[in-house]
Amino acid sequence: MNKKNVLTVKNLNKVYTKNGSKQTHALNNLNLEVKEGEIFGLLGPNGAGKSTFINILGGSVVKTSGEVNVWGFNLDKNPRQVRASIGIVPQEVNFDPFFSPRKLLELQAGLYGVREKDRITDTILKLVSLEKQADSYARSLSGGMKRRLLVAKAMVHQPPIIILDEPTAGVDVELRTTLWENVRSLNKQGVTTILTTHYLEEAEKMCDRIGILSDGNLVALDTTRNLLQRIQTKVVYFTTDKKINIKDKFFESLKIISNEENKLVLSYEKSRINIDKIITEIKKQDVIIQDISTDDGDLEDVFLRLTKN
Ligand code: ADP
Ligand code: MG
Repeated sequence: MNKKNVLTVKNLNKVYTKNGSKQTHALNNLNLEVKEGEIFGLLGPNGAGKSTFINILGGSVVKTSGEVNVWGFNLDKNPRQVRASIGIVPQEVNFDPFFSPRKLLELQAGLYGVREKDRITDTILKLVSLEKQADSYARSLSGGMKRRLLVAKAMVHQPPIIILDEPTAGVDVELRTTLWENVRSLNKQGVTTILTTHYLEEAEKMCDRIGILSDGNLVALDTTRNLLQRIQTKVVYFTTDKKINIKDKFFESLKIISNEENKLVLSYEKSRINIDKIITEIKKQDVIIQDISTDDGDLEDVFLRLTKN
């Protein structure tokens, strides 16, 4: 199953120059490809360059050098076609609060030259569960609804690729779930999805492949499954008959998550230490271990490892 690339980025660089002197190398020789139909996640701490990348695709930031191809169109030669191929959901809410969702979608459709008979305003409103709010002021919408309206706005010209920049930042859990369901259903209909997020748990659940940016450098690019195999820490829960004394040299070398009367939770690196050693140390204190359970780390483990200098 060799899917075609819908986005190809070659040696992409962006240098911001402030006051003519101070420079920020926001993207440093970025190379990546996104395949048709996938959900691709671009992760990275604040300032890593995620928005810069997305804004270059959207045309609001001009790249310094490199080549970008979207849906077969070259960004330098065919910027209009590139724009038509993608729908961008920006990080910041950017619509006039005095228009209704319906009006905003109609205006956006006009902007993209979608003819009236080809507009699918009601379908889109339904997709993002805003049909009841279709004619209210956008300003009366909750934060989550505003986000969904941004998704709707990005969809008016029915682009084959949708790009979401931190779509769930500042959105409560319930609405976050709805938003992800929206994204999934779009993806099921064949829309290639690129998103940035710093909620690693969501990225882990949503994305087929993940790229990790750190200070403008792509430090990982792999399937989510392969990235998860790089996990090196393990969390272990001990239930004991009395409290364990963790003020000793051995325990101080581990990461203690909590230590209560009958429960010790800690994490350790699989490559450096063996669980047998931990058990032996606990036993030295004449403590009876009543139960042990373990958890593998998650994407955060991989992420922190790759993004800390
Ligand atoms: P992210 O979205 O991953 O948080 P950004 O792309 O917003 O990262 O920022 C990457 C780097 O570029 C940061 O160091 C940021 O300060 C800098 N930067 C972003 N936008 C501008 C700008 N318009 N002018 C100057 N520097 C900028
Ligand atoms: Mg950003």
